[in-house]
Amino acid sequence: AITRFAPSPTGYLHIGGLRTALYSYLWARKTNGEFKLRIEDTDTQRNNEDALKAIIDAFDWCGLNYNGDEVYQSKRMDIYTKYIQQLLDEGKAYKCYMSREELDALRETQMANKENPRYDGRYRDFTGTPPEGIEPVVRIKAPLEGKIEFEDGVKGQMSFVCTDVVDDYVIARSNGVPTYNFVVAIDDALMGMTDVIRGDDHLINTPKQIVIYNALGFDLPRFSHVPMINNPQGKKLSKRDGAMDVMEYKNQGYLPEALLNFLVRLGWSNGDQEIFSMQEMLDLFDPKNINKSSSSYNEEKLLWLNSHYIKNVSNERLSKELEFFGCEIHGHDKKEMLLDLCKERAQTIVELKNAVEKFVNKPTTYEKKGSKKFVKEGTVVMLQNYMQLLKDNKDDLHLACDLENITKPFIEENGLKFPQIFQPIRISLTGSTQAPSVYDIIAVLGLEETFNRINTAIDKNFDIEQE
Ligand code: GLU
Repeated sequence: AITRFAPSPTGYLHIGGLRTALYSYLWARKTNGEFKLRIEDTDTQRNNEDALKAIIDAFDWCGLNYNGDEVYQSKRMDIYTKYIQQLLDEGKAYKCYMSREELDALRETQMANKENPRYDGRYRDFTGTPPEGIEPVVRIKAPLEGKIEFEDGVKGQMSFVCTDVVDDYVIARSNGVPTYNFVVAIDDALMGMTDVIRGDDHLINTPKQIVIYNALGFDLPRFSHVPMINNPQGKKLSKRDGAMDVMEYKNQGYLPEALLNFLVRLGWSNGDQEIFSMQEMLDLFDPKNINKSSSSYNEEKLLWLNSHYIKNVSNERLSKELEFFGCEIHGHDKKEMLLDLCKERAQTIVELKNAVEKFVNKPTTYEKKGSKKFVKEGTVVMLQNYMQLLKDNKDDLHLACDLENITKPFIEENGLKFPQIFQPIRISLTGSTQAPSVYDIIAVLGLEETFNRINTAIDKNFDIEQE
């Protein structure tokens, strides 16, 4: 298949767009075809350089590689002009000299009669002398009867009554600039698209584009219109729900694997499978299995997928991702242990960074509530005895299990409950009671740093104010 993604660089790429791009990408790659990126930048007033850059960055970040360079519509004006001339020459399009006032008057009358605004064809067969001082627009001759039909890859057989959905719409403005539906049809045809996969908000454009295909004798691609992504309340997805710039997902600590996996499932399924590697997506994806009804954005699921991928990508990769957030751990001598430990609980790379930094940076404050609850008379002596025990056995303590073996008897001999010993240690080492297993923390920090931090906590009396 030859497919494309065709963003207008007037705004950032949001996840709905990324999802149709992913579907188009998968279908092209799966069938050893081509996937192209076409930038629909004919609306020069609304184009935005930053948005264009963000779109290209987003493709880069997600690893959705397209064939060849981006195609810019703004560089294809000659092609469009040529086809407009051809349609004029063949009598399939015509110049319309209606003034703005006449157009407005027509629209008002139609509205007053509760009719849909549509061009009334008054210059369609015009042979007289054109009025002076009007630069004409070019209109396509739309069929005056019959139906426009096509088989949609998602929605099945579609059938529209011509006069309901298309009028003789403008294909070139008076300044010669071609219009949106015209250029999309020309490009999809000339770029050899076999499949046009796009959001079903474009379904209303398809009959208009088909009129152009038919006028020029181009073969129709297969259209697949993908239902929208709604918010959990079933309404249009807003910024707050996650309809943000794809690159914002990167900034929030999502892995592209997780986002793509999330998106592939949002509108497509393979039984009840949730986790899809890129290879599995390629093996299994088929646009005919795209859901017919809209899907609903589910942040919990995205977080769940993200934690899955955080646990499953290499530590090497995680350190790279951490670097993006300014967290360098290459030099840490227990890097593997540190990441193995922290990634178990992190839902995002930002959380991973926070967890890692708890280890790398000494605590600057201690959680007061925890200190008050767990640091009692006898706690300091107990901690000192415990440190002495570790010191005496330091040559045998490398792994969390070594620490466990030596700590268990200590707990029994001293008649301690777990929180009595573990919470003061957690607070000393990380500043907080919400931290992983003490054995893991000590193993990562090493004994020297452990003693340092416990002694500092004792010196500062765990931030408990003296009465
Ligand atoms: N440029 C259109 C948009 O950004 C997409 C056109 C298409 O996919 O046919 O919504």
